[in-house]
Amino acid sequence: MNNKALIDKLNTEKHLSKDEWMTLFDTWDEDDRKYAASIAKTIAQRIYGNKIYIRGIVEFSNICRNDCYYCGIRRSNTDVSRYCLTEDEILGCCDEGYGLGFRTFVLQSGEHILKPEQVADVVKKIKKAHPDCAVTLSLGEEEYETYKLWREAGADRYLLRHETANEAHYKKLHPENMSWQHRMDCLKNLKKLGYQTGAGIMVGSPYQTNECLADDMRFFESFKPEMIGIGPFLPHKDTPFKDEPKGSYELTLFLLSLCRILLPSVLLPATTALGTIHLKGREEGVLAGANVIMPNLSPTAVRKKYMLYDNKICTGDESAQCRGCLERRMKAIGYEIEISRGDHNDKICDIR
Ligand code: SAH
Repeated sequence: MNNKALIDKLNTEKHLSKDEWMTLFDTWDEDDRKYAASIAKTIAQRIYGNKIYIRGIVEFSNICRNDCYYCGIRRSNTDVSRYCLTEDEILGCCDEGYGLGFRTFVLQSGEHILKPEQVADVVKKIKKAHPDCAVTLSLGEEEYETYKLWREAGADRYLLRHETANEAHYKKLHPENMSWQHRMDCLKNLKKLGYQTGAGIMVGSPYQTNECLADDMRFFESFKPEMIGIGPFLPHKDTPFKDEPKGSYELTLFLLSLCRILLPSVLLPATTALGTIHLKGREEGVLAGANVIMPNLSPTAVRKKYMLYDNKICTGDESAQCRGCLERRMKAIGYEIEISRGDHNDKICDIR
């Protein structure tokens, strides 16, 4: 079967075998990528029209207990000036975001900064101030009871990239005290608690093979995340992976399209890392099937301190500038920003 036939098969059956995925990743070319993008774009438009959902990210702290080899805010990086926003500052970012049309706030940080109760308190206050908004958390791995507390406080969604569905690969990206099984268990717990759950990977992370990518696609097929975060790996100068090559832009676009074809209604952002690796990354991400963008709502004063990788874009901007810039960028390719919570809804995927 040639690659276009494999992509067609994925579209009709929503499944490929591990061998078929590996064949596709071993042999794809630009033509195949464009073919997948055109199918993915059509699916996204059928489900979401020309509307793009926006989420405002508040990167409220860069303090982290973990030491992931790829990440710029890892514990061992002593060159980072650590910060944690106060509750009032976080709420202030959300208020500003609300005025700019955001109806989803994503709270992201390193791990284990605030007590679980403090996070629950912030979530409750955001929901009280803005009852028409969704709150997404992206605070890493926690125990079931903590996720439950946050869910009961009103959190709607949770982003926790699985990073890789291949356990041996996971071990090459993380120190020994971190466990692939625990991360996978966290994802299952999040789903069980009724969060709209996001998994995802970095494309081209060190030691990633086509077999890893096949495992990732098969994981997406079985886990059916409501959201998938995919961006290229980008090195950070103060990490063990500083000399590793960045991920492939084209492969990232190809994977976005394959995810859209596999899970038609998935919420799929054109990520900041994709916008960092290429000037038109977010536009091309949308044209490859993405339907979400997540501009930064953090105070400008701390943005440069939340550097997961080198040269991250938009770190000098005000939130309003980012909002305006994205609106223009999306208009230029025929899309409109939608002002709504933008929930996942798999019923709409039946509309043909
Ligand atoms: N601590 C939280 C969230 C912060 S990191 C957590 O672990 O879930 C958010 C995501 O950024 C990570 O899941 C990872 O996939 C991505 N990331 C980290 N370092 C990166 C790098 N060097 N290049 C590209 N993406 C990176």
